[in-house]
Amino acid sequence: MTFRATVLTLYPEMFSGPLDISLAGRAREAGTWSLETVQIRDFATDKHRSVDDTPAGGGAGMVMRADVLARALDHSAPPGDPRPRLLMSPRGRPLTQARVRELAAGPGAVILCGRFEGIDQRLIDARGLEEISIGDYILSGGEPAAMVLLDAVVRLLPGVMGNVVSGEEESFESGLLEHPHYTRPKEFEGREIPEVLTSGNHAKIAAWRHEQAERLTAERRPDLWQAYRPRGGGKA
Ligand code: SAH
Repeated sequence: MTFRATVLTLYPEMFSGPLDISLAGRAREAGTWSLETVQIRDFATDKHRSVDDTPAGGGAGMVMRADVLARALDHSAPPGDPRPRLLMSPRGRPLTQARVRELAAGPGAVILCGRFEGIDQRLIDARGLEEISIGDYILSGGEPAAMVLLDAVVRLLPGVMGNVVSGEEESFESGLLEHPHYTRPKEFEGREIPEVLTSGNHAKIAAWRHEQAERLTAERRPDLWQAYRPRGGGKA
C-alpha cells in the first residue's frame, strides 16, 4: 500500500530536494509513498492568475482566496477521497508524534501550504481542513512545515527504517525524551564514555538509559514530565 501525499502550493519546486534524498528518497523510489505537487495558481481564473486579494476589513498583507483554493483542493482530492485534508498553520494543533503515527497508518494526506497572511477562513470551514502547526513561530510559508510533517510520517512507513527498534525507543514514543548517545572513540578530549555503557551488563545499561531519559525530561520538558508521571513512571 502506497502512502499518497498531495501538496498544494505556490512553490512546487521547493519539494524536489529535501524529500528526494536519504530515507525518504529511497522510500519514494521503492513506491512506499508518492508525492504529487499541485500548483495552486493553475486554478486561478482571471487574466492575472491571482490567488490572493486584500484582507476584508483592511490591514496589512494579502489573503489567499477561498474560491481558487477550493478548485485546487476539489481537483486534487475530490469528495470521497479518504485522505485527511491538512492545512499547515501556526494556529493549528501542534504536531505530535502520536498524530504523525496516525497519519502514517492511513492512506496519505492532502496538504495545503499557506502563504501571505494566510487563507480565507471560509475555505477552512467549508472543506473541514485540519490545521496543523509545527511550532510557536511564524514561517513565511507552509512549505517547510509540510516537509517537516512528511519527513516525520515517511520514516514510520513500513520498511523505511532499517532498524524498527530504534523507532520505538525514540524521544516522545515512550512519553520521555531519549537518553544521550555515545560511540567510539572511548575518550574524546578527556571525556570518557559513561562506564556502564561499556560494562556489557544489558540490564544495567537499560536502567541507566531509562534514568537518563527521566532526568532529561524532568529538566527540559516539564510539560512532558507532568503527562508521563501519572502513567506510573518517575519519582522526581
Ligand atoms: N498571519 C499568520 C501567519 C501567516 S505565515 C498568523 O499570524 O497566524 C504564512 C503561512 O505559513 C501560513 O498560512 C502557514 O501555511 C505557514 N506557517 C507559518 N508558520 C507556521 C507554523 N508554525 N506551522 C505551520 N505552518 C506555518
